[in-house]
Amino acid sequence: MNTILTVEHVKKIYGSKENQTKALDDISFDVEEGEFIGIMGVSGSGKTTLLNCISTIDTVTSGLIEIDGSDITKLKGNKLSDFRREKLGFIFQQFNLLDTLTAYDNIALALSILKVSVKEIDARIRQVAELLNIKEVLEKYPYEMSGGQQQRVAAARAIITNPALILADEPTGALDSKSAKMLLNQLTELNDNQNATIMMVTHDSFSASYCKRILFIKDGRIFHELRKETNTRNEFYQKILSVVAKLGGEDDNEA
Ligand code: ADP
Repeated sequence: MNTILTVEHVKKIYGSKENQTKALDDISFDVEEGEFIGIMGVSGSGKTTLLNCISTIDTVTSGLIEIDGSDITKLKGNKLSDFRREKLGFIFQQFNLLDTLTAYDNIALALSILKVSVKEIDARIRQVAELLNIKEVLEKYPYEMSGGQQQRVAAARAIITNPALILADEPTGALDSKSAKMLLNQLTELNDNQNATIMMVTHDSFSASYCKRILFIKDGRIFHELRKETNTRNEFYQKILSVVAKLGGEDDNEA
């Protein structure tokens, strides 16, 4: 199997010598191609820091992060921004679509930056719109769409470049439960049918139950790991809830 992400002995320390916060304290794990992995932990446990380091937005204090064979801790300037555009797809809690562009143009932008031809862009958008059920909103502006539709457009934008790794940060956080379920089902489909590799940060056990593996983080360290294996989604959800209870976590959702 192909390893897409390697995180090895990663530490991230914020602050000055006198006032240090160890946000990540020697974290190591691998993600294989085609995994759908969830990162859980209470507020302040280090989830955002980990995601920011993997997404090249922040830098590690020590350790190695390899994505699709490249050590991203060594990339700088244009090489780093090219890498981010070509290899990573992002889905954020607040969608982050450009208000002045239609759904179609928001999605197309990710490809035109990569200098893909107009014809190829159109073909790929039609295909991905079918997959994510957004055909009827392609000519609409973000303010004309529901939150669920906006997030599916954002997901289309994230996957259209065929990134090595899709990073989702609380992607259901701003959605009602019906739209959240729809998005989670579609992420599952992308993972199952397109072999997309997805890493999702969430504090929500219900969303996490759609993943195939969960890493629980506490005080910047890996506290526990759960694999779905042959469990049904609901069985997996119950297991996640019991680990979250051990973590003393916040959980504000019901299945
Ligand atoms: P989570 O996403 O799980 O809520 P974070 O990664 O945001 O956790 O934070 C982990 C720890 O690092 C917390 O103690 C937080 O206060 C600290 N931290 C995060 N970002 C910074 C920063 N820019 N400067 C100083 N401390 C930070």
